[in-house]
Amino acid sequence: MTQALKDPMSPERLQGKATYRAVQVVSPGKWELTSKPMVDPPLGHVRIRVEACGVCHSDSATVDGLFPIEWPRVPGHEVVGRIEALGDGVQGWAVGQRVGVGFLGGSCGYCEFCRNGDLVNCRNQEYTGIHRDGGYAEVMTAKATGLVSVPDDLSSVDAAPLLCAGLTTFSALRNAPAKAGDLVAVLGIGGLGHLGVQYARHMGFEVAAIARGSERAELAKKLGAHHYIDSATADPAVALQALGGAKVILITASGGKTVAASFKGLRPGGVSIVLGVGPEPIEASSMDLIFQSRKLEGALTGDPATGDRTLRFSALSGVSAMIETAPLEQAAAAYAKMMAGQARFRMVLTMD
Ligand SMILES: [Zn+2]
Ligand SMILES: [Zn+2]
Repeated sequence: MTQALKDPMSPERLQGKATYRAVQVVSPGKWELTSKPMVDPPLGHVRIRVEACGVCHSDSATVDGLFPIEWPRVPGHEVVGRIEALGDGVQGWAVGQRVGVGFLGGSCGYCEFCRNGDLVNCRNQEYTGIHRDGGYAEVMTAKATGLVSVPDDLSSVDAAPLLCAGLTTFSALRNAPAKAGDLVAVLGIGGLGHLGVQYARHMGFEVAAIARGSERAELAKKLGAHHYIDSATADPAVALQALGGAKVILITASGGKTVAASFKGLRPGGVSIVLGVGPEPIEASSMDLIFQSRKLEGALTGDPATGDRTLRFSALSGVSAMIETAPLEQAAAAYAKMMAGQARFRMVLTMD
C-alpha cells in the first residue's frame, strides 16, 4: 500500500474544537485528508459517528467525476456508525443506535414513485458520496429515510460492505422469479459475486458460479456453489443448458459480451439481471429474447427495508463478505487497490 494522506492537523483540531477528519476528492483523481467543522443535522437528517465504510467500485463515479460533482466531495456509500444527533422531525431513530447508509441517500416520500411504494426509483433521491458527502470520514450527515438498522450481532466492519454489495445481490435475488430448488447462476466471483453465491445458496437455490479460469473454482464451492463453470474453457450458455437452464443469471461482472455469452443459458421464462456497471453495450438477439420469453433487466441496489433484511439474513445465515481493512487515512490506497482488482474482495475503512 502507498503512503497515507498527510494529516493537516488544522489549528481548530489542535485546539480541540469540534471538527472531524474526512478524506475528500478535490478534483478528479485528487485526494485530500482534511478536517471539517461539525454541523448540526438539518431537518429530517441525523449525524452519524462513522465506525466503518466500505470501498465500492461505484466510488469511481465520485473519484473520476462520472456524475456532475460539486467539489470537494467525500466518497463512500457503505457506511456504518452510531447516531449522535437527530435533526428536527426525525422519528423512529434514536441517539446511540447503530445504523447503515447505502448508495441511495433517502427517498422523498411524496413523488409518484414513492407514493407507489417504489423507493429505489424516488425522483428526488440523492446518491450518497456523489450528491452529498459520504462515509470516508469520522462523521457524516444522512437523511433519516435512507437509514438501515444494523443487528447487534453484526460488527460494523462486517456490515459495511453488505450495504451496497450485499444489498444489491440480496435484493436482486429476493425479487427474482426463482423458487427454492431452481437453478440460479452467478456470473463473476468478485466483490458482488462472492456474496451473490452465498445468498443464492442460503435462499435454497441450486447454484452455478461462472468465472474465467480455474483459480476461483475452489472458492466458489466453498462459498456454496454446487457447480463451477470456467468460462475460459466452456461456453457458459451450453454448460447451463446441460444443467437444465438457469431460471436466473445474476450478472455481477461488467462487459456486454459476457452478458450476451451467458444469455442463452436461461431456460424459457428466465431472466438475466445486470448488476455490474460498464460502458460496453449488451448485445442480445431478438430471437433469443422472444422465442423462449427470456428477459434482460437491471437492478439498482435496494430499498431500506430490504437493507434491514440483508443485514439480518446475513447475520442469521452467516453470509459475510471477505474483507481487508485499512485506516481512514489510507483511503486513496485502499481505493486504488480495489480498482486494480487486487482486493480480496472488499476493502473497508476503519476510523481509529
Ligand atoms: Zn420520492
Ligand atoms: Zn456501491
